Amino acid sequence: MRGANVDSVEILERLIEFPTVSQVSNLALIDFVAELLRDRGVACELVHDKDKQKANLFATIGPTDRPGVMLSGHTDVVPVDGQNWTVPPFALTEDEGRLYGRGTADMKGFIACALSAALRATSMDLRTPLHLALSYDEEIGCMGVRSLIDVLEMARIRPHLCIVGEPTGMAVATGHKGKMAARCTCTGREGHSALAPLAVNAIHMGVDFVGELRAEQDRLAHHGARDDDYDIPYTTVHVGKMNAGVALNIVPNLCTLDFEIRNVAADDPEMILNRLRAAAGKIAKNARENAPEAAMEIDVTNAYPGLDVPLTSSAVAFVKSLTGANSTIKVAFGTEGGLFNQRLSIPTVICGPGFMAQGHKPDEFVSLEQLRRCDQMLDALLARLCDPRGLAGE
Ligand SMILES: [Zn+2]
Repeated sequence: MRGANVDSVEILERLIEFPTVSQVSNLALIDFVAELLRDRGVACELVHDKDKQKANLFATIGPTDRPGVMLSGHTDVVPVDGQNWTVPPFALTEDEGRLYGRGTADMKGFIACALSAALRATSMDLRTPLHLALSYDEEIGCMGVRSLIDVLEMARIRPHLCIVGEPTGMAVATGHKGKMAARCTCTGREGHSALAPLAVNAIHMGVDFVGELRAEQDRLAHHGARDDDYDIPYTTVHVGKMNAGVALNIVPNLCTLDFEIRNVAADDPEMILNRLRAAAGKIAKNARENAPEAAMEIDVTNAYPGLDVPLTSSAVAFVKSLTGANSTIKVAFGTEGGLFNQRLSIPTVICGPGFMAQGHKPDEFVSLEQLRRCDQMLDALLARLCDPRGLAGE
């Protein structure tokens, strides 16, 4: 891939061929990207995981003594197991203006456009730099990017604003809910079912806790914070998995429940969790009357913050000016933007090609038209980065 310009579709074709499912290494893809950039004299900083199997990549094109605009994307994709694909998932198939393949929408399409723009930028006289931030393990709870954020936190200069290219159909999105995932482990006392009242049934404890979660959901729906920009305008609480029981004639002594809280910006998930812990404490206290070993433990397994960038933020006006949008949206899915915003105070908006309706599904695709709109936005961005007055007028 040499020559002055490399088209985003050509890059996307290569990116899709790396089966970077979150469980496996993304290093082959990262090496490919790093080599593309190094060929144009761009230095790449890699931040590896502890096993050196995965890496984040950070690169700056243009001046390094001032903050620039960061384009952010995750390199991992969700698995294809059990899905009924009619095209090969890890090869790009073009058909009637659609580009099919795992990750085309979520979100290698954006990464391809961002890389193509970065390569064009190397032959331009940028006055404001362009930063690229590629992460791993986003799909398992925004895990990989955290070590990149640690590095950016220590850096002398932080990006001025960030565009996370998750698929929004090229609309400018200013927010998403936060998420906290947790496991509740209920410990009771085993016994013969004929003598059930002498034991402590962990499933019963778990079901009591589900009742508390549903009461909490009720409270949040009716008295919690509201944000009418979302389809579900309040914080949600939900149990996704319950594991317990061995046989009908054994009183089970263990039950685990996986649940999550997806909060609007104005609700604090820690406060909600504290109420749930208090409710679990009461259930355990009652159970201990029969068995002193009875317990309810709640462990947070994953959490990322929501994003809620004020509409008055200059970053919102800037990205709207790049796409020509005159309105903004909020999205249902989480992104790394919440972490960039919370931990680094970088104003962050979400804007990328394709739609999440096609993400995570068989025959995932992005339309050529969406990719071209993204290319156009990034062309407009490069023009602004060349402005000798800096990002004036943003
Ligand atoms: Zn994504």
